[in-house]
This record gives sequence, C-alpha cells and structure tokens, in this order.
Amino acid sequence: MRQSILLRQLFDRESYTYTYLIADLDAGVALLIDPVAECLPGYLQLLTELDLTLKIAIDTHCHADHVTALGQLREETDCETIVGTPSMIECASRFIGDGQCIECGRITLRAIYTPGHTDDSYCYYLEGERPVVFTGDTLLIRGTGRTDFQNGSAEDLYNSLFNKLLTLPSNSVVYPGHDYKGWSQSTIAEERRCNPRLQVESWQELDLILSKLNLGDPKLMDVAIPANLQCGRTLFI
Ligand code: FE
Repeated sequence: MRQSILLRQLFDRESYTYTYLIADLDAGVALLIDPVAECLPGYLQLLTELDLTLKIAIDTHCHADHVTALGQLREETDCETIVGTPSMIECASRFIGDGQCIECGRITLRAIYTPGHTDDSYCYYLEGERPVVFTGDTLLIRGTGRTDFQNGSAEDLYNSLFNKLLTLPSNSVVYPGHDYKGWSQSTIAEERRCNPRLQVESWQELDLILSKLNLGDPKLMDVAIPANLQCGRTLFI
C-alpha cells in the first residue's frame, strides 16, 4: 500500500525548518506539514511537477522562528489549513484534538497532543510497516524544543516525551521540525538511547538542562508570532 505514498523532506535554509510533503500518488493528493512562507514558490512548483493537488496544510504549532505559508497556500490552492486545539490561530480552517485523524487519500495522520515547547504543539503519526512520526519542535534529533516562551512548560514537555512519544513503536522514524546540523531523521529507539534530554528521571531534571541553555530569542520572533496568528499574513492594511 505504501509504495504509492510519497514522503519528501524539504528544507528552509533561513530558519533550518523541515517541511514535509506527503502525497498519495495514486489519488494525486498531498498534504504539507510546517510549510514556510518564503518557500511557497518551491512548494507550488513541486506540486505542479508531481501533478498533485494540495488538500491540507498543517502547522505543528505556532512558530516563533519563521512565518508560516498556511494562509498563502490556502489562497493559492484552496487547501484546508489545520492546527491543533488550543491554538490561537483563529484563521485556520479546522482545529483538531488529541487522537483525531487527518485523512488525505490513503494517508491517515493521527494527531498527538504534545504540549511543552508551546501549549499548542502537536506531533503527527503515520502508521505503516515502518511508522513515521513528525515531531515538530517537541522532539528534535538529540534535542528538544525550548520551553521558555509561548506558554512552554518543562513539566508538560517531559510528559509529552515520556508518556506519549516514547510509547510509540521503537522503530518509528522521527522526522523533526528543525535540525541545525543537517541531521535529517532518527528513530524513537535511537533518541531514547542517545538524546541527552531523554536520559533524565524527572521533569525537574529536564527543566534544569533547559534552563542552562541561555538561548536568545529567535531573530524573527517579533514578526513571526503575530504573523502566524494571522496564518502568515505580514501585510496589514
Ligand atoms: Fe517552534
């Protein structure tokens, strides 16, 4: 069944964001996870070249480091835009909750509510012989998202990691929302063993690691968050 499913990882060099195109090639339909506004022409080109109709665009959470392409994609392709409850992105077409599924041709993505990086963070699970999980900024390769803004919480992140993501089949391929070293994928088993932030015994221990990071604000934060709450609109009349 999965031969006809295309999974393509796309990269935005400015924000180190990974965007995922998943398509049912037989049905000619596709969805995008975490599309970046600046990359819109590339997405449209790829969809045209592969003869795909974009049905759905999803943001895993309200991003602070890049502007989403959700609004522009909906205007250009008439696709549905989806975010997860309790997102403040009111312009989205549809809000989904924990455990609900998104269907696109023969693709079924199950939403997993994973607050912690933000209070609106979701991961998406694609079942199959080799399951795949799109982890947004909840679980990165050898890292995790930060928890110091947008209602982030180390306690929530700990619960999302240990009680949700690490309960997935250990052979699940992990596709993160970003990578700063060019690492493109991992697995749940590999991260459980090698990710320093998963070697903790309590949320307080995770919080200690995160509090020592001393990260500056993302450079686009003041632009990206207000724009993303408007589905990526940056021009206000
Ligand atoms: Fe993020």
